[in-house]
Amino acid sequence: MSRALVLNATYEPLCVVSTRRALLLVLQAKAELLSGTGRVYHSARTSLAEPSVVRLAYFVRVPHQAHVALNRRAIFARDGHRCQYCGAQAENIDHIVPRSKGGLHAWDNVVAACRRCNARKRDHLLEDSGMKLRHLPCAPRGRQWALAALGTVAPDWEPYLGLPATVVQLNMPAEGEAALSA
Ligand SMILES: [Zn+2]
Repeated sequence: MSRALVLNATYEPLCVVSTRRALLLVLQAKAELLSGTGRVYHSARTSLAEPSVVRLAYFVRVPHQAHVALNRRAIFARDGHRCQYCGAQAENIDHIVPRSKGGLHAWDNVVAACRRCNARKRDHLLEDSGMKLRHLPCAPRGRQWALAALGTVAPDWEPYLGLPATVVQLNMPAEGEAALSA
């Protein structure tokens, strides 16, 4: 299913919805079309550009900085599917401070790792392992959140994703839908 990026009235990236949902927002004058996919929706009465990026006509107050769900796919997307120790193709998730030593399953303690590095590090602390991280991991932001959530970002989304993301919910659950219907 193709997806559209929804921006707040302030141009901050807000969430990702189906292109059909984005089209409805445009039809109901709740959002303006900023960029199309190049495809066209045809109905009995009219033809409309399929939205790729829309901007809400009204401001949605975001209660707090929401976080990207921490899961294997999101971690791999954040780390570019590369081992964060050696740069090889990643196959595993490594806890920097091992869980056996109280390490949390949190964005700043997990990295994608190749099988070899993952096996080499085992349940050692980083400083005892003789291994080095290429980047300090953190929760995805901006372009990263969309990559983490979707795996890919349409080229026409990129200009909007450098901004700090105040993401309500990446998968657009009922709560976010309600915010958009308000
Ligand atoms: Zn490695």
